[in-house]
Amino acid sequence: MSGFLRLLARNKLALGGLIVMSMIVLLALITPLLPLADPDVTNTADRFLPPFSEGAFLGTDHLGRDLLSRLMWGTRLSLAVGFSAAVIAATIGAAIGVIAGYYGGRTDNVIMRGVDMLMAFPYILLALAIVAALGPGLMNALIAVAAVNIPFFARNIRGITVGIAHKEFVDAAKLAGLSDAKIILTEVLPNVIPVIVIAMSTTVGWMILETAGLSFLGLGSQPPQADLGSMLGEARSALITNPHTSIVPGLMILVVVMAINLLGDGVRDALDPRLKSGALSRPMPATRVDRTGEAPPAPEDSLLALADLRTQFHVKDRVYKAVGGVDLSLKPGECLGLIGESGSGKSVTALSVMGLVASPPGVVTGGAVYLEGEDLVGAPYEVLRAIRGKRVSYIFQDPLATLHPLYKVGDQLIEAVSSHRRISRTEGRAHAIDLLKRVRIPNAESRVDSYPHEMSGGMRQRVGIAMALANDPDVIIADEPTTALDVTVQAQVLTLLDDLRRERGLAILFITHDFGVVAQLCDRVAVMYAGRIVEEGPTDAILNAPAHPYTSKLMACVPELGGGQRQLEAIPGLPPVVDKLPKGCAFAPRCHIGTEACRQGDIPLDPHGAGRRVRCLTPVTAPQSEEAAQ
Ligand code: ADP
Ligand code: MG
Repeated sequence: MSGFLRLLARNKLALGGLIVMSMIVLLALITPLLPLADPDVTNTADRFLPPFSEGAFLGTDHLGRDLLSRLMWGTRLSLAVGFSAAVIAATIGAAIGVIAGYYGGRTDNVIMRGVDMLMAFPYILLALAIVAALGPGLMNALIAVAAVNIPFFARNIRGITVGIAHKEFVDAAKLAGLSDAKIILTEVLPNVIPVIVIAMSTTVGWMILETAGLSFLGLGSQPPQADLGSMLGEARSALITNPHTSIVPGLMILVVVMAINLLGDGVRDALDPRLKSGALSRPMPATRVDRTGEAPPAPEDSLLALADLRTQFHVKDRVYKAVGGVDLSLKPGECLGLIGESGSGKSVTALSVMGLVASPPGVVTGGAVYLEGEDLVGAPYEVLRAIRGKRVSYIFQDPLATLHPLYKVGDQLIEAVSSHRRISRTEGRAHAIDLLKRVRIPNAESRVDSYPHEMSGGMRQRVGIAMALANDPDVIIADEPTTALDVTVQAQVLTLLDDLRRERGLAILFITHDFGVVAQLCDRVAVMYAGRIVEEGPTDAILNAPAHPYTSKLMACVPELGGGQRQLEAIPGLPPVVDKLPKGCAFAPRCHIGTEACRQGDIPLDPHGAGRRVRCLTPVTAPQSEEAAQ
C-alpha cells in the first residue's frame, strides 16, 4: 500500500488530481454541516445577483437561489450519483465478465452476445432510451448510466479472466477439489480486482459527465433539486445575460472530471504491474555507473577481464552488494567456470559485463571490464550495443523464456544477425540453417520454420546457443544454460559447447552450481561466495585439493557415482544477505575452522601455489609447488 502511494506521488499530475479530488470530496461530505443558505428557497427579489454580492458569495440564479449553496449541494449529489453508477456498473459488469470468462464455452457465448447487443446501441442513445422507458428522475438516470457502462466492464474483465482461468494455480485448485464458486472467489477474483479498480478509476469521471448530461436534458434530477447538470441546464437561457450562473457549475464539472481523470491515470500506472516496471521506472539501456576513483589497470594478455568489479543494488536506503570486487580473466579459447550457491552473485557478475543489470536499482560502483584492453564500464551505450551479441553474447537458463513465442526460430536467428549487419532474406535463411546445423539440430532445413513451442527443451537450448553464435562472438557468457535440462540432454549440450570452443577458439565464461559440469568442461574455475571470489585456479587442482573451506564443503555436498556409502554433508547455516555482510570473511560464521582473525579485517585473495589463489587465512590444503601440481 505504501509502495502504491509512493508510485502515485511520483506522478505530479496524479498527485494534483488526488489533492483537488480529496478537497472536493471533503467539502461534499461536510456540506450539510456548513452554514449555507437553503439551496432550494427562491427569492425572486434577488434574481441574478452577481458574484461577491452581500450574502451570496457566488451570486444567485434566475430564481434568486444562492449559487454557492446550490453548487455545494449539487456537487455532492453529482459525485454520489457518479460514484454509485460506477460501483454498480463495475460490480455487475465484473460478475458477468468473471462468470463468462471462467466457464467459457456456451455460457460465455450466450452472455457475451447479450453484452454485444447492449454495446451495439450508441451509448447516450441507450441511456436516453432507458430513462424514457423508466421516466425522468435521478434514480432512473443512475440506473441508465450504470446499465450502459456494464458492457465495458464485462468485456474487460472477461478478457482478463479467460487468461487466468487456464493458469496452473487454477488447475491446482480444481485438482484440490475446490468448488467453482470458491475458486472464483479465492483464485480468480483477487487477480481481477486491480483491473476492476483501474477500469473504475478511469471511468468515474465519464459517468459523472453522463449523469450531468441527462440532468442537463431534464431527465435526471428534477427541480428544485440541484445537481451540476441541472444547474447548467437551468442557466442555459441566461447564458449571455448572466454568464456566472453557467460558469459556476461548468467550472466545477471541469475541475471534478479533470481531477478524477488525472488521478485515474495515476492509479492505473501505479497499480498496473507491467507499467510499474515499465513506464514509471523504465530500466536504462545500460547499467548506471557511479564509479569513484580510478579504474584498476587491465591485466596482461587476456581477452575479457573483470578487475575489482563492484555492482550494487540501491533499493530505498538499502545497499545490496551483489558483486563486491570480482577479478576474473579469460584468455581466447579458454573456458572459465564460475561456481557458487544460488544468490552468490554469479548472474549479476555476468550481466555486469555488458551493462545488462537493470538500473534502477543496479549501479556499478567500481572496477572495470576490459575487452581486449578497452574498458567497457561507463562506455557510451552505442559502444556497448555494438558489442552485445556481436563480440560478447549470452546464453541464459530458460530458452523458452528467451525465445519469442510468436516468431519462427529461423526468423529470430536472422534478427540476431541483422541487428549487427545487413543481410538479405535468402542469405539470412541459409545462415540460420547453417547455425542450426552447427548446434547439431537434425533436419535443420525444416526446423528453421519451427516455433519455439514445437521444440523440446534441449532443442530450444541449442537454438539459444545458435543465437549466441550467430555473429561469431569472441566470448560467450553462459548463465546456467543446462540447469533446466535433464542430465542426458545436459551432457549433449556440454559436449556441443566444448566442441564449438575447440573448433572456433571461443572463450566461455560458464556459470553453474554443479561441480560435475565444471569438471567436464572448464579449464579453470572460480568459486564465488557472497559476491566475491573465494578461490580460483585450474579445475583439476581445485577439484583434487580444494583450499578454501567453502569449496571443500561445497564438494562434500556432491554425491559421487560409485563412491560407496559416503556421508553427504550439508553446509550448516545460510549464505549472508548481501546488504548486511559481516566484517572479514563472509563465510566465517559457517566455517568449521574459522578463527577470530577471520572476522577482523578484509582478507585478500592470495596466491596459493601454481596458478591458484585463495581468500582464506587457514586454507585446508597446503599450496602445491609447480612440479607437484604437474
Ligand atoms: P546467482 O548467483 O544465483 O546468479 P544473483 O547474481 O542472481 O545470484 O544474485 C546475487 C544477489 O543479488 C542476490 O543476493 C540477490 O538477492 C541480489 N539481487 C539480485 N537482483 C536484485 C535486485 N533487483 N534488487 C536487489 N537485490 C538483488
Ligand atoms: Mg543466477
